[in-house]
Amino acid sequence: MPLLTIIVPCYNEQESLPHFYSAIVDEAAKLNTAYALDAEILFINDGSQDGTLPLLRQYTVDDERIRYLSFSRNFGKEAAIFAGLEKAFGDYIVFMDADLQHPPAMLGQMYEALQTGEYDIAAARRVDRKGEPPIRSFFARLFYQMINKISKADFVDGASDYRMLTRQAANAILSMGEYNRFSKGIFGWIGFKTSWIPYENVERVAGETKWSFWGLLIYSIEGIVAFSTTPLAISSVLGILFCLVAVIGIIGVIIKTVIWGDPVAGYPTLTCLLLLIGGTLQLSLGIIGQYLAKTYLETKKRPIYIVRETEEDVK
Ligand code: UDP
Ligand code: MG
Repeated sequence: MPLLTIIVPCYNEQESLPHFYSAIVDEAAKLNTAYALDAEILFINDGSQDGTLPLLRQYTVDDERIRYLSFSRNFGKEAAIFAGLEKAFGDYIVFMDADLQHPPAMLGQMYEALQTGEYDIAAARRVDRKGEPPIRSFFARLFYQMINKISKADFVDGASDYRMLTRQAANAILSMGEYNRFSKGIFGWIGFKTSWIPYENVERVAGETKWSFWGLLIYSIEGIVAFSTTPLAISSVLGILFCLVAVIGIIGVIIKTVIWGDPVAGYPTLTCLLLLIGGTLQLSLGIIGQYLAKTYLETKKRPIYIVRETEEDVK
């Protein structure tokens, strides 16, 4: 029987976990009868400070299809996804949020899409952004428009992390061992044929989102730095442009001086120009700094996550 690994990153999910757990166990039973598909559920506890870990220990003891991995601290969802992939035994692998925003009822549909043999990835795609603050939607759209212009990886607006992969596609993701993991980019970068399955946004069953607006903004900058070097090119182009303007300006000033002499004037203009040039320099340095910082972290070759405890410790 083929095995499906369901990877569930959890960070302070004690309120939503019981809902998720019962829903996913039901769904796994349905998949088993409908498609003769076995399931293992692999929870990744991403350094939760609440009662998430005791719940996971409990589930593992109750049901042998449940496994978990507990990090030594909060490493982020991207790290949790990677850890899950590394530890998954399945022939098929799916990522799901613990807050039931990813409807378990779609699993069958995803599995069918992969069974056709035409697709390697089946991914849920939100068709609306209902229940999201308008300002967040606006910036999200802006981000997708921009990143698609400046990156080779294909970023799909509304694409969620709720996706099922064949073993082959999962291995492709595993082969990307980078430290700065931006999974929306990684999914787009590996290629493969993706079947997009539309769904309507579901509100979180309990608990709160871990994303603030500020957090999302920083996350999007990381995404740009990780999957495009266009900002570096932009700062070079700006530099060239400024030089050109300066040369033309100098020639103009020389001609003017030769013809009309040199009365001292244009002090405000000078100040403004200095500020403009200084600002642009600072911006360019900042952009270069972003890339340098990422390179620095990458060269350290730190582990992406550190495990403190697994299901084997309680079984
Ligand atoms: N998550 C995680 N580590 C984090 C933040 C979030 O593992 O540092 C998990 C979280 O428990 C949930 C999923 O990632 O299962 C999505 O998080 P959330 O619902 O907060 O994000 P949103 O759905 O609002 O984008
Ligand atoms: Mg959520």
